[in-house]
Parts: sequence; C-alpha cells; structure tokens
Amino acid sequence: MKCLSCGAAAEKGFTTSVTDLGKCLIIVRNVPCYKCTQCNEVIYTADVVQKLEQIIESAKKLMQQISIIDYSEAA
Ligand SMILES: [Zn+2]
Repeated sequence: MKCLSCGAAAEKGFTTSVTDLGKCLIIVRNVPCYKCTQCNEVIYTADVVQKLEQIIESAKKLMQQISIIDYSEAA
C-alpha cells in the first residue's frame, strides 16, 4: 500500500476515527488502516470505510453527545 498524498510506503496499523457531526461526536477506536511512514496520512480500505459508515449511522441513532465505539466490537 502506498500513500495517496506523497507516494511513500504506508504500513498496516490502527487508528482512532473521530467524526464530528456538530450535535454529536463519534469516536471509533482500533480502526484498522494503513499509515504513511512519511507524512502520517491514514488510508482506509473500502470495506473499512463501509463498516465505519455503518457504525457512524447506528451511533447517530443513539443521540448521545459523545459515542465511543470499539471497531472490533461493532457488528
Ligand atoms: Zn505520505
């Protein structure tokens, strides 16, 4: 996997995704990603993006100000 910004090698890792929807903040921890070794750009694979969207959608319905979800525990 190569970084989309600078073209350097990106290594497998985990990150925390923070989505600020104004009324609520959704934090997803332990999201698998690729991280650039040069510029720290984070790259998600398509299936991770899809699952993240699902997690955010269901978190929205909870109407909590702050939701903290562990990616590995999300359905
Ligand atoms: Zn980069």
